[in-house]
Amino acid sequence: MAGCIFCKIASGEVSAKIVHQNDHVVVFRDLNPQAPVHVLVIPKKHIENLSSSEETDLSMMREIFSAILKVTKDEKLSADGFRVVANDGKNGGQTVNHLHFHVLGGRPMSWPPG
Ligand code: AMP
Repeated sequence: MAGCIFCKIASGEVSAKIVHQNDHVVVFRDLNPQAPVHVLVIPKKHIENLSSSEETDLSMMREIFSAILKVTKDEKLSADGFRVVANDGKNGGQTVNHLHFHVLGGRPMSWPPG
């Protein structure tokens, strides 16, 4: 989608520290990390957020969760645990309108979030 920064990362037009990608998803390091490990998992297809996703996107969700499991293993997060977050819309605090899952790890997390 024109003007979408994550579409530009997915297409290679904007550079990012990519740690994994395939035909469906890209995983890259967050520009402003909130934990020792902070990566974003995105579909290459532009979907605004979970609220905008449809039944037909479920196979893509499978790819996303497969990538999340891969990166948590690659980054050695599985033993101590990690957090996966998808901010959705205004109340969810979403700032980039291209579906993404934050994967955070490498330190203990507190709850509830702000
Ligand atoms: P959210 O607030 O859930 O929409 O998260 C958007 C995330 O994207 C934030 O954590 C930003 O730091 C991150 N971000 C924005 N632009 C870039 C970029 N060009 N490369 C990597 N991460 C980015």
